[in-house]
Amino acid sequence: MVETMNEATVDCLIDKNTRTWNATMVDGIFAPQEAEVIKNIPLAKKETEDKLYWPEEQDGRYSCKTGYRFLKEDEVGFQVAERQDHEKELWKKIWALECPNKVRNLIWRACRNSLPSKCNLMRQTIITDQKCDQCKEENEDIIHAMWGCKGLDEVWGAENIWSFRNQRRFSSFGELLSWVFELHKNPVLFAFTVWAVWQQRNQIRTQNSHRPLNLLSQWVHDCYLEYKALKIAPVPCRTVRRTRWKPPDPGTFKVNFNGATFADENCPGLGVVVRDEAGLVIAAMATRVPQLLQAIEIEALAANNALEFAQELDLTDVVLEGDSLLVMEALNSKNLVLAPYGLMIQDSLSLSSAFSKLSYSHTMREGNTVAHNLTQLVVNLSNCVIWMEDVPLVVLSCYQADLAGIS
Ligand SMILES: [Zn+2]
Repeated sequence: MVETMNEATVDCLIDKNTRTWNATMVDGIFAPQEAEVIKNIPLAKKETEDKLYWPEEQDGRYSCKTGYRFLKEDEVGFQVAERQDHEKELWKKIWALECPNKVRNLIWRACRNSLPSKCNLMRQTIITDQKCDQCKEENEDIIHAMWGCKGLDEVWGAENIWSFRNQRRFSSFGELLSWVFELHKNPVLFAFTVWAVWQQRNQIRTQNSHRPLNLLSQWVHDCYLEYKALKIAPVPCRTVRRTRWKPPDPGTFKVNFNGATFADENCPGLGVVVRDEAGLVIAAMATRVPQLLQAIEIEALAANNALEFAQELDLTDVVLEGDSLLVMEALNSKNLVLAPYGLMIQDSLSLSSAFSKLSYSHTMREGNTVAHNLTQLVVNLSNCVIWMEDVPLVVLSCYQADLAGIS
């Protein structure tokens, strides 16, 4: 076995009849983690020639910009690239915080060490003493001013959730914030408190009136609850026009598809709905996807399954509609996509000859709600389910809304 494997190529791991990975063989040859990665690589349904593609670009084509970035990252080393990824993740989480912009902005600046703490002012030779004004013991860098200073014991000690302050030391504000996010220590309340601490610190420095420190925690809590209540209250908005589902031309059928991954379930799935010119459902389908594919790959696979479904229903005049711009553009342009999802695009394009009329349409998520909600069903399904001239109860209201929108 070992000798013959020296000459072996990847195709020996693929079952030629089913066009799937030979799981027994992959599991037998590779370490469990490697085997998982391999089994989640998408495969085309038709045998295709090997092609080189550029993994740094979504369409697999090389560009100078990503080439330069790749070399740069290679030059400064993997660790730097990893740190940048970590930072990017952190920035995303900061901007997604459910709190006022001024609070998010302050948190972001604190992470970037771009607030005028005394250490930073001394570095810029604006002041000559970097000792903290409150405790007069330690130098005032950002983590000290926001968190570590013993003058803040009353603030951070007031809530049990911050008790780890006495048990763990953090070298930077970013490290502290990452910890708060990771352990789900109410990042929003944390951000509000940091904001209040910084305001307080500035008011003391400029000798303006300020709240006593022992009342700060209660005040922050009230602000936090008030903001949350405001956020939850629905804002009536009549001026925004929803993208609506539009029926196809007479004699044509519209096939909407959607693919999605559910993070909690580790399970991708896809949904398809076929409707006629009056908007009435001909058939609907929802199914799990046995591989852990990337979001774009699931969308491309969903498009392919949607076309196969239309073919099984013997439809000849079809509009295929999805909310993934990349997939719809790739189908429309018929250009070769070099990324792995290009294999599924090729599969779909090769199906087009089965139809006498086939066009592709991109819509927004709001125009694709039935297919989208069908996909959500997959979490509770063990295999593929098909509904003929009917939809499951959970998508009934959005189906009716689509019908109401065209009448
Ligand atoms: Zn201090």
